Amino acid sequence: MITQGVKITTRCEACGGVLMRDTGQFIDRGRLWWGTEGTCLSCPVAWCDQDFGDATPEEIRQALLAEHGPARLRLQDPEASAVPVLRALREAHGLSLAQARAMTDELKTTGLVGTLVEMELVASRIRQHSVRVTVETSSG
Ligand SMILES: [Zn+2]
Repeated sequence: MITQGVKITTRCEACGGVLMRDTGQFIDRGRLWWGTEGTCLSCPVAWCDQDFGDATPEEIRQALLAEHGPARLRLQDPEASAVPVLRALREAHGLSLAQARAMTDELKTTGLVGTLVEMELVASRIRQHSVRVTVETSSG
């Protein structure tokens, strides 16, 4: 399973103790999930929050990007036909043709940038249309 997480220590609002936050994204059955969990080390404060959808809360994305750095999705053959890529993006993201074209242009030139889990999900959707793509990360 493709997953990426980050553990952050903050201050518990209830008791002032140490609060451990565990935040992450993962792919399950072709969907992008995100979750955040908190546990206080000195009082009973604890929560767990999980949901799915293409739009992960920005706070979670930023925490993952800060910890792990962005991932970049690239076409292995930028000269290949854009038609299957356009189709994959439109189906997966419900984009208009103009939006899908802009995203495809970005993919062909600089590559698409996002969290590792987001880029792996887009990659798997594009691969279903027999287009070869790679996901690069700065940490390797
Ligand atoms: Zn506490």
